[in-house]
Amino acid sequence: MTIRSVLVANRGEIAVRIIRAAKALGLRTIQVYSAADADSLAVRLADEAVAIGPAAAKKSYLNIEAIIEAAQKTKAEAVHPGYGFLAENADFADAVVAAGLRFVGPSGASIRLLGDKVAAREAARKAGVPTVPGSDGRVADANAAAAIARGIGFPVMIKAAAGGGGRGIRIIQDAAEFERQFPQASAEAAAAFGDGGLYVEKVIAKARHIEVQILGDGRNFVHCFERECSLQRRRQKVWEEAPAFRLPQAIREKLCASAVALARSVGYVGAGTVEYLYDEQAQDFYFIEVNTRIQVEHPVTEMITGIDLVQEMLKIAGGDPLSVRQEDVAIAGHAIECRINAEDPFKDFQPWPGTVERLVVPDGRHVRFDTMLFEGYAVPPFYDSLLGKLVVHGDTREQCLSRLSDALAGLEIGGIPTTVPLHRALAADPDVATGNVHTRFLEKWLETGLAATSGEKEVAL
Ligand code: ADP
Ligand code: ADP
Ligand code: MG
Repeated sequence: MTIRSVLVANRGEIAVRIIRAAKALGLRTIQVYSAADADSLAVRLADEAVAIGPAAAKKSYLNIEAIIEAAQKTKAEAVHPGYGFLAENADFADAVVAAGLRFVGPSGASIRLLGDKVAAREAARKAGVPTVPGSDGRVADANAAAAIARGIGFPVMIKAAAGGGGRGIRIIQDAAEFERQFPQASAEAAAAFGDGGLYVEKVIAKARHIEVQILGDGRNFVHCFERECSLQRRRQKVWEEAPAFRLPQAIREKLCASAVALARSVGYVGAGTVEYLYDEQAQDFYFIEVNTRIQVEHPVTEMITGIDLVQEMLKIAGGDPLSVRQEDVAIAGHAIECRINAEDPFKDFQPWPGTVERLVVPDGRHVRFDTMLFEGYAVPPFYDSLLGKLVVHGDTREQCLSRLSDALAGLEIGGIPTTVPLHRALAADPDVATGNVHTRFLEKWLETGLAATSGEKEVAL
């Protein structure tokens, strides 16, 4: 590896995760931080830390100039962007490279191509990957959108070409709705993502979200099998598993091969994820998008394959060829991740920053808790509410679920409400146990499910 240092352009649990992976490889670590994160765990763990601005992300974690300046000042040789913030910003990747540093991720050109969800659909089609029926490119106006929707059948979705994080998606039931919703959606997308471009997709009802982890070094491309991410709220993942349950082996092979074909067709460099919707009844899968970065849920893949994805990313950025050969990647057992957020699941998931007064973390060979928490830590109100990820492994899904229940029972985060009670209830749910779920399951379940566990509510609060 030609690099000896890396700057972490992120915060929270993923910054901690990157620092640990970099240290394991013997790299010097530099953490940038906003005024709200001066006493964060990432700052404590890193070899050096550089203040880059005030709490507001726009002025710190999204401030390209300040981050590049920090890298130059500390003689960092590479920049890891984590997820969120600048991770999928092609201009940032270009600016890092223009400053003579390595970007831990694909080229700006790849991010531009795959990060634009319309261009990515086109790239997928060209690589022979089935996409969701919908518009061929961006849609100009409500009339054009309505014409496409009549062709493929309602309901449809209008989606922002530059959308992400579950935002910029609307369901449209009939042609009349386009008149009102289309201009609104476009204005919203322009404000949120700096790009008002929209496209249309058919709604795949009762689908499961299945995604494939890929790694590439520009010449060699492998997949690390798939993850199941069907438990979602507001189109954001809440609970993820690997591998997907009940996936016929022939479908798994086709799915993973299609992700590799797409990676190869663009000469992909780094870690990435190809996301699909899976219609279990028809056994059809449809490409939805590519995430050109490490994903929140990457640990479940690490648990079943034994591959350290963040270390792989750093080695690839350091110029090493892929150390993973496809024939060596195998699935061992089952893993589940629960996202623990500083939100109150009994109060419509209201974010609830505050001080962690007590922290008890389960451990053991089969349990992993990725977090930036420590006792006395004040969770700042300015950022994403993710506090940590509880990840559990088992030889079978059944064993994994049972170990997860034990681990959740042993996880105590005192002082602020968290989503731990939600996960305890999900881990005990019969439909979750049989895998009888789809991407709208959790929202329907929340209408009754959590209220029905009021005993748990009292204990939790
Ligand atoms: P994952 O599949 O890794 O969970 P998500 O889509 O949930 O990916 O995004 C991970 C993080 O990145 C979340 O904190 C999310 O809010 C943020 N994020 C992703 N895309 C965008 C975007 N286009 N704009 C703002 N935030 C985003
Ligand atoms: P983002 O970039 O915000 O992650 P995605 O395109 O990946 O957006 O979609 C996020 C989620 O929205 C999916 O996991 C799925 O639950 C739902 N979704 C997206 N497209 C469709 C579709 N065509 N039909 C049904 N659900 C969809
Ligand atoms: Mg997505």
